[in-house]
Amino acid sequence: MPASYKFIARRKNLVSLLQQKGITTPLVLNAIGSVPRELFMNSSLIELAYEDKAYPIAGGQTISQPYTVARQTELLDLNGGEKVLEIGTGSGYQSAVLCACGCHVYSVERQRVLYEQTSSLLRELQYDAMCVYGDGYEGWPQYAPYDRILVTAGCHELPVALLKQLSVGGLMVIPFGKDNELRMIRIRRTSENEYEREDFGDCAFVPMLKGVQ
Ligand code: SAH
Repeated sequence: MPASYKFIARRKNLVSLLQQKGITTPLVLNAIGSVPRELFMNSSLIELAYEDKAYPIAGGQTISQPYTVARQTELLDLNGGEKVLEIGTGSGYQSAVLCACGCHVYSVERQRVLYEQTSSLLRELQYDAMCVYGDGYEGWPQYAPYDRILVTAGCHELPVALLKQLSVGGLMVIPFGKDNELRMIRIRRTSENEYEREDFGDCAFVPMLKGVQ
């Protein structure tokens, strides 16, 4: 059986598993069902691509667990077509899932090695994400405002620049809190100066670090 068939079958099983774990949004399930996670993994780990786990990538970082990617994407409450700023390009898997949801994706990464590898991988795979090397605490002001902002690293303090770059009516999903007590938070910008916050429970992420590397 060609390797790609094997991965197609495993990808289908992953989608079923995510449904069992409570992911219900068709846009998100279809996106996970279409993105070849094996191509975003460290090459020695591709057999594990459809385990629902995070794995190491370059730069001491991780490719997020599929459930986490699905959950964060679901919390963005997308219709498709939104302009989304992602903080933490990492492996590029989450960026690809957002592209597959029909979003216009802007992604910031603070590690040069990951920025370089991943922006060229996304291009090669024809995922139309705009990538930049920079500190996500500053966002990406050039293209602001964004309909959605997705932070994929754990934050101790709410990045003020990101709050400002969110459009009125927009949503930001951000793992926020102290190191071992991160909560999945969703912030809605309700007016120029007002924000509402919802808490979706515990989560685990690599830390969001200041500056570039
Ligand atoms: N979205 C990624 C998750 C990668 S892990 C994926 O699907 O694979 C989190 C990523 O956030 C890492 O690549 C890390 O280098 C990056 N990161 C941490 N702090 C950051 C910051 N201040 N600005 C931009 N990226 C940051």
